[in-house]
Amino acid sequence: MESDWSTTSSSDSADDEGSVSGSEVEMHDAQADDRDAAWVAEQFPGTTDAVLSCPMCFTQVCFVCQQHVRFPGQYRAHSVVHCRTLSDQLFVFGTRGRLEPAPDSTPFEGEVFRLVVCAKCGARVGVVDPDGAYHLFHVVTGS
Ligand SMILES: [Zn+2]
Repeated sequence: MESDWSTTSSSDSADDEGSVSGSEVEMHDAQADDRDAAWVAEQFPGTTDAVLSCPMCFTQVCFVCQQHVRFPGQYRAHSVVHCRTLSDQLFVFGTRGRLEPAPDSTPFEGEVFRLVVCAKCGARVGVVDPDGAYHLFHVVTGS
């Protein structure tokens, strides 16, 4: 699959001790399952634009999100499920407006994003910013 990811690291460590569970939110626990989609829809009517799933294994990764106003296929969310945040996979927005691996030699002055991957298959689904907002753009929609 073509992607904008320019990192060469394909060995996403599943045992990254610094990783933070993407399920670490108030609405879901690690056992969140498909029924949560309906629950969320009931609790937060009209607040989600789509149910997002992993493009590789179709595990649902987000139930409440907002579609980016300018970039179709890009979503913002405050919580995800079945995802892992890799704290050692850092990205910044480069000069071309694309995510690039964060330079690890020089301190970076801007926002640094951590990689978010599907907990099941490890596919990269997006990034999370320092404020805890998820930016998901390697996802598919479905319910
Ligand atoms: Zn997956």
